[in-house]
Amino acid sequence: MILLLLWQFKTRLMATLAEAREAKERLLHEATHDPLTNLPNRMLFMEKLANAMELSPRDSSRSYALLFLDLDRFKNVNDSLGHGIGDLLLVGIARRIGNCMRPTDTVARLSGDEFVVLLEDMEGSDDAASIAERIQSELQTPFKIHGHEIFTTASIGVVVNPTGYEEPEELLRDADTAMYRAKDGGKARHVVFDRAMRTRAVSLLRLETDLRRAVELDEFVVYHQPIVHLASGRVHGFEALVRWDHPERGLVPPGVFIPLAEETGLIVPIGLSVLRSACRQTALWRERYPDHRPLGASVNLSAAQLIRPDFPDKVAETLEETGLAGRDLTLEITESAIMRDEEVAAEALSRLKALGVRLHVDDFGTGYSSLGRLHEYPVDALKVDRSFVRRMSEEASGENAEIVETIITLARQLGMDVVSEGIETTDQLDRLREAGCDYGQGYLFSRPVPGEAAESLLAADRVWR
Ligand code: C2E
Ligand code: MG
Ligand code: MG
Repeated sequence: MILLLLWQFKTRLMATLAEAREAKERLLHEATHDPLTNLPNRMLFMEKLANAMELSPRDSSRSYALLFLDLDRFKNVNDSLGHGIGDLLLVGIARRIGNCMRPTDTVARLSGDEFVVLLEDMEGSDDAASIAERIQSELQTPFKIHGHEIFTTASIGVVVNPTGYEEPEELLRDADTAMYRAKDGGKARHVVFDRAMRTRAVSLLRLETDLRRAVELDEFVVYHQPIVHLASGRVHGFEALVRWDHPERGLVPPGVFIPLAEETGLIVPIGLSVLRSACRQTALWRERYPDHRPLGASVNLSAAQLIRPDFPDKVAETLEETGLAGRDLTLEITESAIMRDEEVAAEALSRLKALGVRLHVDDFGTGYSSLGRLHEYPVDALKVDRSFVRRMSEEASGENAEIVETIITLARQLGMDVVSEGIETTDQLDRLREAGCDYGQGYLFSRPVPGEAAESLLAADRVWR
């Protein structure tokens, strides 16, 4: 009897111990795995990566590589089909990536639509790239989820034969940098990291830090370039072109920092400061030179500014504060800025129009053509991109001259004016006048200049015949 009890007790104890062990294992698994895909999570992956880093210098035959994968346009899937389907897609992706792996490789889900792969015991350095390609081709077959056929691609950053890394995070960061390069390069591809990318990433970071400081200290200056009424040869207005007066680097042209300012959102305060300065300056000139009418300000606008719901209010406030009338302000917008979010842009443009502000399409002819929808926007003029003007006189076939003429004809039909930018020679000016272009701008008249120099053009009542 006692023996039986003892035996029962022992089996129960063993069962409890097994349960406890199982529970412990389950907890451990949960703590180290992604619940959705059941792949290792960031914590476990970083541990494995640290381990691979530690082993490789000791054994040169054990090279390893890191792949950083980010889905292209995953947000679209979530937004249009819902998170449930988005989740199922991630599970499917995890499985497909798994299909490309060898037993020694580790796939993990870092977060959202980001996956990482650790390839160990690599033989040639080409291996990692070919695995990246294999993943791309695995993803080519569309996913079928609840009756939806979903096409997806991924951008992959690759780090091969890593040397000189201290921490696993540094490696991850470089793979991430390469992944962004793949995105910039047009997505659906892989890019292998090299040192130059690091240097570029660091200098971009420095530029960004500098730019933030510049916004705080307001280190921006506005240059003005005259826009000439071609028939009369008189100044019609000035385009405000921003420069960054960098304490060490001197005057930095907008091409260097505007793209970064757009990416970081810093364009919003910078753009507002340019707008204020241009409006204030123009109101002052209109007061000083009352005979010089019309005289307006043209200010460039980025997509990031246009889509801010409070932007039209800011413009209204600025006009109020500087005393410039809406009709004396022109905002220049590129086709691609409108295309970024057509609905939001259309709403903003009509609110701006209600303030009396004039709207010009900048760099016309270079964007992906919204020609078909042009008439739907309240646009007052097209600014012919300078690449057409430049090539107008240098070619024999006359193809570019024809493009300019076509733009002018189109504008006429839509009841719009035409401004040509980049006029550098009298030959170009003559051709544009002949073609009936309304306004022109370019080095032939004047380069963009500081306020005082611009004012002297008004004081002298400069006319270009
Ligand atoms: P954009 O609006 O098309 O401005 C015209 C650019 O062409 C200016 O370059 C101007 O200096 C240049 N240009 C004018 N005439 C000639 C010419 O005869 N020949 C040649 N080769 N170039 C000429 P800039 O000042 O370097 O500005 C470049 C771009 O930066 C502008 O192109 C505009 O897109 C952007 N930008 C400038 N200021 C601002 C700003 O305040 N806000 C925003 N969002 N963008 C700005
Ligand atoms: Mg412009
Ligand atoms: Mg332009």
